[in-house]
Amino acid sequence: MMHKPEALDNFCARLKAAGAEILGPTNPYEIMRFRTSKGVGIIYTGRRGETWNAEALAARDHLDANRGSLAPVKIKGRRRNTATVSALMLRDGDDCFFCGARLDGDVTVEHLVAVAHGGPNHISNLFLSHADCNQRAGHLSAPEKVRIALSSRATTPSPGTPEVSQHATRSEVGAAERSGL
Ligand SMILES: [Zn+2]
Repeated sequence: MMHKPEALDNFCARLKAAGAEILGPTNPYEIMRFRTSKGVGIIYTGRRGETWNAEALAARDHLDANRGSLAPVKIKGRRRNTATVSALMLRDGDDCFFCGARLDGDVTVEHLVAVAHGGPNHISNLFLSHADCNQRAGHLSAPEKVRIALSSRATTPSPGTPEVSQHATRSEVGAAERSGL
């Protein structure tokens, strides 16, 4: 059975209500272009009908699941590439590393091991957090950051949380990362 496509003007209205930015089409084959926290969504039309890119589908899934705001990510503080933010959201979800609450567009990219302490600028050493949480915890050592993250999840462990003890040392954190957790 064919999935009935959602009426586009209705979809557009839902996008706007969720904080998405509606962009103008850039060529005659685009019927809709918009920016959300999932990236730039594009809906094309052609002989074979409507085509939705991955970002457009992700935005639709987000709306269908009533997951709240789709407002594009505004990166405060240090300038970061939105591709990094998208990759981290894909890996970790859209929750703050420190407090576990939804980021909702209030996003900073933080290093687990600070660059000043030799931490790499690689995604394995990066996570997302609220600007305020980052401000409070950004100067701490990696084990202290992990301890804060774990204590905020103590009652509701999430499947993605690495199994690192409350007294984790930096080498234990490194081992957890190397094993892909
Ligand atoms: Zn937070």
